[in-house]
Amino acid sequence: MSDKKFGLAGVMGWPVAHSRSPALHGYWLKKYDLLGAYVQLPVVPGQLGVALPGLAALGFRGCNVTIPHKVEAMKLVQALDPVARRMGALNTIVVQPDGSLKGFNNDGFGYIQSLLDAQPDWRADAGPITVLGAGGAARAVVLSLAERGAREIRLLNRSQDKAQALADEFGGPVQVLPWAARHEALESAALLVNTTSQGMHGNPALDLDLARLPVQALVSDVIYVPLETPLLAAARLRGNPTVNGLGMLLNQARPAFNAWFGVMPEITPELRRAIEATL
Ligand code: NAP
Repeated sequence: MSDKKFGLAGVMGWPVAHSRSPALHGYWLKKYDLLGAYVQLPVVPGQLGVALPGLAALGFRGCNVTIPHKVEAMKLVQALDPVARRMGALNTIVVQPDGSLKGFNNDGFGYIQSLLDAQPDWRADAGPITVLGAGGAARAVVLSLAERGAREIRLLNRSQDKAQALADEFGGPVQVLPWAARHEALESAALLVNTTSQGMHGNPALDLDLARLPVQALVSDVIYVPLETPLLAAARLRGNPTVNGLGMLLNQARPAFNAWFGVMPEITPELRRAIEATL
């Protein structure tokens, strides 16, 4: 067995024990019969500047970067993909042939792909889009929707200043509305996205009245624990098509796996079941 062929990657964060990435990449390594490992890299806050430069020397092809290091890592890589630069955070690092580090952010790709997996003819310009939340997930969602040609993105967040900051930064189709207007902001929407943490396991449900939402509107929640949030359950019961957050999680991993191991992996029903079993 040649050391050269053995591929090493991992997820750097704190804590990382809960991450599904080792199960996901481990599944693909096995499925595609590749020699390699994807490991947890628990790096405490303040140690990223020591850990990241060691990647190449340790023989890593790269890593995922997660909370709390996604923004700080931007300053520690030698090159940045334009999407990661615009996003203001990275989630993937690829060790370059010369040992330098290049940062990417595949969350937006993962999000759009999850919609396309559910509705292959989905289009960002099909009608107004209402996005709730203005945190890290919202950045990826809003930026990727704008890049896919969304013409009207209504952005609402409990703390309106954060939504405004995001709109000021991204401009274009993003318009901010007050949180109190969220029920009315569903009028004529083609897509509703929840990027808040409301509805996640352990949190209360999102306080939202769907009455004004057109019944054909796609309802998407980036949360994946539980797979069906109270929002998605309510949407399904009134006849709206729904997309949960698992597709975003699975799809963001595909380009990273490809960059490290040279195979663009597929998301199969069996993979979904395997990851769902860990949730
Ligand atoms: P974050 O940066 O902390 O943002 C949290 C958002 O939730 C903010 O907009 C916040 O509003 C809002 N929020 C919190 N409590 C609220 C409340 N009581 N009422 C209304 N809004 C409230 O978190 P994040 O990283 O964006 O993650 C958000 C969710 O997305 C999490 O559930 C996470 O698991 C999920 N996520 C999924 C994926 C995926 O691959 N599927 C990827 C990333 C994240 P304020 O600004 O007012 O605090």
